[in-house]
Amino acid sequence: MNPRLLLVLFFSCTLFLRAQSEDEKQLKAIYDMALTNGKAYEWLNYLSNQIGGRLSGSVQAQEAIEYTKRQMDSLGLDRVWLQPVMVPKWVRGTPEFAYIETRPGITTNVPICALGGSVATPDGGLKASIVEVQGIEDLEKLGREKIEGKIVFYNRPMDPTQISTFSAYSGCVDQRYSGAAEAGKYGARGVIVRSMNLRLDDYPHTGAMSYGETPVESRIPAAAISTNGAELLSTTLKLNPEIKFFFKQSCKQYPDVQSYNVIGEIRGSEYPNEIMIVGGHLDSWDLGDGSHDDGAGVVQSMDVLRLIKANGYRPKRTIRAVLFMNEENGLRGGKKYAEVARQKNETHVFALESDAGGFTPRGFSFECTDENFEQIEGWKSLFEPYLIHMFVRGGSGADVGPLRDENIVLSGLRPDSQRYFDHHHAENDTFEHVNKRELELGAATMTSLVYLMDKYGTAKPKKVKG
Ligand SMILES: [Zn+2]
Repeated sequence: MNPRLLLVLFFSCTLFLRAQSEDEKQLKAIYDMALTNGKAYEWLNYLSNQIGGRLSGSVQAQEAIEYTKRQMDSLGLDRVWLQPVMVPKWVRGTPEFAYIETRPGITTNVPICALGGSVATPDGGLKASIVEVQGIEDLEKLGREKIEGKIVFYNRPMDPTQISTFSAYSGCVDQRYSGAAEAGKYGARGVIVRSMNLRLDDYPHTGAMSYGETPVESRIPAAAISTNGAELLSTTLKLNPEIKFFFKQSCKQYPDVQSYNVIGEIRGSEYPNEIMIVGGHLDSWDLGDGSHDDGAGVVQSMDVLRLIKANGYRPKRTIRAVLFMNEENGLRGGKKYAEVARQKNETHVFALESDAGGFTPRGFSFECTDENFEQIEGWKSLFEPYLIHMFVRGGSGADVGPLRDENIVLSGLRPDSQRYFDHHHAENDTFEHVNKRELELGAATMTSLVYLMDKYGTAKPKKVKG
């Protein structure tokens, strides 16, 4: 071999190894700091236990805006601001009530909750015969004569054989989202949807639903029933198809109200116009306190900025933590952020979202080009000591989605998902179900990826020689 070439090879190898060991040290410092001196858990404690559920347009959502703004103000960032956004305001009203009536006067109560965006039942409640289906596809098979005047009961469970519980969720969430609009077309009077939960328990799980193009006067009420309730209803119905179901809910949609995204920024030292964001959503459902969904992502994103500063790392690119408002029932915050970024001609090169719970991080999923993915996969060994091994192509996050274009790398933190749907959108999404270390490991994992993305920049498409 040409000796000069050998020398060049030797030096580039040395440089590569030196960079590698510097990155190893940086990641170690980030994880050490997150695990010994993290703030995420303390912030989450306040958000969950002092403020609570943060449904868009509620007093608690406003309190969360003010609290997180104050906390980011105290971090010595270059800039912290509120970005105005109008959000829908839907209110649950008095607690819902439901029972199965096997014979006149013989009833068994079952736990339900209104789906977000649903209309109320008539004041005295709604009682009707019930027809069980395994999904929207069944409506057509049954036809109007078997559905009209009845309550449609969607009972397709999440598929337990899916290892990613998010895949199991996608496999049935259409029942919740469009079930009422679809059943309404066949003359149904209401819908009851099995909760998106793999476990059998007594918690009903709410979540967004939409009436699509259904005119206001034809909208029918929709509620979720706990998985135990769904099992009982299904069994009872098989024994006696004549049973009646009663439910009563008083939820209401109000006109849009003023709200905000909360944004904190460290300005880049070399390429301030290249923007990288980390984020989660500040709003939550109202049944629990929204600790996993998505208090965890909010406090982790805030901690990314704090860990970067505390480790004395000066980012080359501008890094923002964005706490999005209204992911759950409108995505207005995510849409507004992207709209303003486009108006201002801002270049976003990387966006990372944490919105899959505060559980043990396993890795990330990416929406990016082959070149970008190849670069990211090259960092895998740096994450191995922290048991972060999952680097996959796939969805990123709802709030960062509107930023999608050919220049940006979109990513989602992927924590272990096995227990997520035990809590998702339910009364038991509460602070005690978040483990401090798991939450901190997530913050450190996010910070590490942001550090590497900032240091090396996102890979640009390879130039074709010619
Ligand atoms: Zn969420």
